[in-house]
Amino acid sequence: MPSTVICVWLDVPLRGAFSYLHDAPLPSGQRVLVPFGNRQMCGVVDNSVTPDTIAPEKLKPVLQVFDALPPLPESLLAQVRFAARYYLHPQGQALFTALPTMLREPRDVRLPDRACYQLSAQGLAQPPAARSTAKLALWQALHEPQDRDALRKVHAQAAAYLKAGLASGDIAEVPWQAPELQVAGELALNAEQQLAVDSVAASLDGFAPFLLHGITGSGKTEVYLQLIARVLAAGRQVLVVIPEINLTPQLIDRFARRFPATKIVCLHSNLADGERLEGWCDGWLGRAGIVIGTRLAVFTPLPRLGLVIVDEEHDGSFKQQDGLRYHARDLAVWRAHTAGVPVLLGSATPSLETVANAEAGRYRKLVLNQRAHGSASLPQVGLVDIRRQKLVEGLAAPVLEVLQQTLERRELSLVFINRRGYSPVLACTGCGWTSVCKHCSARMVLHLSARQLRCHHCGACERIPLQCPSCGNPDVQPLGEGTQRLESALQRMLPEARILRIDRDSTSSKAAWDAIYQRVHAGEVDILVGTQMLAKGHDFGALSLVTVLGSDGGLYSADFRAGERLFAQLMQVAGRAGRAGVPGRVLVQTQWPEHPLYQALQRHDFDGYAAAMLQERREAGFPPAGFQVLLRADAPAYADAETFLNSLLAQLGELPAGLNMFGPAPALMVRLAGRERAQLTFEAEQRAVLHGWLRAQLPLIEQLARKAARGMRWSLDVDPLEM
Ligand code: ADP
Ligand code: ZN
Ligand code: ZN
Repeated sequence: MPSTVICVWLDVPLRGAFSYLHDAPLPSGQRVLVPFGNRQMCGVVDNSVTPDTIAPEKLKPVLQVFDALPPLPESLLAQVRFAARYYLHPQGQALFTALPTMLREPRDVRLPDRACYQLSAQGLAQPPAARSTAKLALWQALHEPQDRDALRKVHAQAAAYLKAGLASGDIAEVPWQAPELQVAGELALNAEQQLAVDSVAASLDGFAPFLLHGITGSGKTEVYLQLIARVLAAGRQVLVVIPEINLTPQLIDRFARRFPATKIVCLHSNLADGERLEGWCDGWLGRAGIVIGTRLAVFTPLPRLGLVIVDEEHDGSFKQQDGLRYHARDLAVWRAHTAGVPVLLGSATPSLETVANAEAGRYRKLVLNQRAHGSASLPQVGLVDIRRQKLVEGLAAPVLEVLQQTLERRELSLVFINRRGYSPVLACTGCGWTSVCKHCSARMVLHLSARQLRCHHCGACERIPLQCPSCGNPDVQPLGEGTQRLESALQRMLPEARILRIDRDSTSSKAAWDAIYQRVHAGEVDILVGTQMLAKGHDFGALSLVTVLGSDGGLYSADFRAGERLFAQLMQVAGRAGRAGVPGRVLVQTQWPEHPLYQALQRHDFDGYAAAMLQERREAGFPPAGFQVLLRADAPAYADAETFLNSLLAQLGELPAGLNMFGPAPALMVRLAGRERAQLTFEAEQRAVLHGWLRAQLPLIEQLARKAARGMRWSLDVDPLEM
């Protein structure tokens, strides 16, 4: 009769762990099969949990122990415990989010062969006949321990050779051991790069967070690679987290060429389940020297972790937008802290959160201000004032002219259309007034159908003004519109231009991207047209002109992060111009040429603009000056979502000092996938006040949600990026 009570996490939306019986204790991290309701589920044992006080005779037994793999490591359980607590998410679900799919399933999992092989004494004494070059090469290679992958690289006949050798006793299985580190093709660093490498290298034996602020093309990746070399040389592992869009074959090749003998694992959401499991286990079991991947890679257990790198740390794709809404950059910093190793956050346009941390002295800032390629200089940024221009199909004459000239010189242009779904904010074309809410610091959004301005932060409503409340000018317009038809108009106005449009569809697959690169590099394109996609780190070679259209919508947006995003995007697209010795030029069409954002862009002054934006955030109490949690509710009908939030409001009681609540208000994108979304915003200057209080409200929220209208769903978003 089983008698030991075992606590198990399951992938269910409930806050606690579940108790089962087994005939002996099981280690934490052990995967097991347990009955749950009328199903059988995979569970993970956690002995740090105190079991419920349920009479043992009511508990069900563990059905099976999945022991083909070792128990999941304590470090992973600790990371999940932290993430669940921080993101106010059920711990069982958080744990299963962190696992590769195959480890979530109610099945035992066996690993593919990762054994190593080497010649036995008998095999050593019998070199193959010199005629067989394949056998000779394999025999040579097997003087050192080799795994199957490595042998396959030596010769395609490896499998057959191995099989025969094992049968005859010429080859023996030996314990796995790390291959000798090889480092190929290191570049001589410039002074700034050297200083960055030296600073981090001097701090390898403890937690030390660094911001590597380097302009586009300044050689950040080279800095990473040289630091990685040192960490690998010390026998330790490196975690590199990068945005989805940057996980290109070019980047992986660059790593593989630099470290030809090191096992490099690449993890992302498009892998087959088996591949993902294999890579994850190679990290966990210590065989991979480098794990490089998108946000999910941040959960890969690495027993000998020596360095964490987050590239393009400002990138929005690090934030998971459903389930456990974690931020991979923040979890990466937590991991480095817990493991006692340095973490390097790299970007040309760091997030204000990171800038604020650097300013406060919590992160050390390393700067790369020079482009690594000697001759390339920074592009010249021009502002085209469209208040004094008649636009033809959204294009100002001077912009069209420069496009024409660039075309005549047969040089490549890029037209960047900023069209992120900015909700329309009203602006005065005369004095620059915008529709700011009287009750909070947010901007009110135009709702034409209701003939209203609505604040999506606090929920306030107002009538649409017939003239500017500040100067009386009747010309009050919604911002950020008028770029829709631009792409086809461009083709009509420049009929001889070979235009290539880049959108989400044309970039959804790797093959599509390769085709784009190929056409661009083969000189078959004159003008690239596209949206946000183009702002990321793609190297299209010699771009001589970048024009930016429709960016004003990001200046005065209902989303307080819009300015930060826009500035980062414009810095990044501007960074595409003027590479490889071709002087670049950037032209921005705007009705606010005197706006500090554009002025800073013209001076390439990230620091100045970041300081101004941080000041604004401090005044408004927005992150990083304060902390936010959103309670979102969505339902097929808006009223159902709102009713749930109101029922909660009625029962929340008094808020603790220092905590503010706004709403219910519609989300900025009210309708999404057939559902309508409302939200409450909680803000506090102290994170502990905010999280502690909300954690205490969870039972109430859950209880009210059970009584809410059918189809109503809710979630908490800690440190939300999308409003
Ligand atoms: P970033 O990651 O900052 O955009 P990269 O590391 O990709 O920059 O470097 C940009 C280009 O400059 C690459 O082609 C790289 O090979 C080259 N590069 C980087 N560092 C050096 C260096 N120290 N000497 C010469 N070329 C370099
Ligand atoms: Zn005005
Ligand atoms: Zn408001």
